[in-house]
Amino acid sequence: MKREALQEIKRLFSLAEKVFDENPERAHRYVYIARRIGMKANVSIPRELRRKFCRKCLHFLKPGKNCQVRIHKHRVIYKCLDCGNVMRFVVRR
Ligand SMILES: [Zn+2]
Repeated sequence: MKREALQEIKRLFSLAEKVFDENPERAHRYVYIARRIGMKANVSIPRELRRKFCRKCLHFLKPGKNCQVRIHKHRVIYKCLDCGNVMRFVVRR
């Protein structure tokens, strides 16, 4: 069950990535669904996908489109251009 949920989450994020340019609203919707599946199955969104959506407005984030990415020291700073939320991630080696 958890494994399937995880696969579904990954699938939704790759779909979101694909449709974003044509239909951002749909991409945001996929993020919403992915999160809901995660909550239901009690699985957290994988780390590599967590930076692909805004924690505040829950929009799908695409660098160079609705997201500004900067690297500062050992952190990657993501700024959501839809709501202005800033997220920081530590770069791991
Ligand atoms: Zn946002």
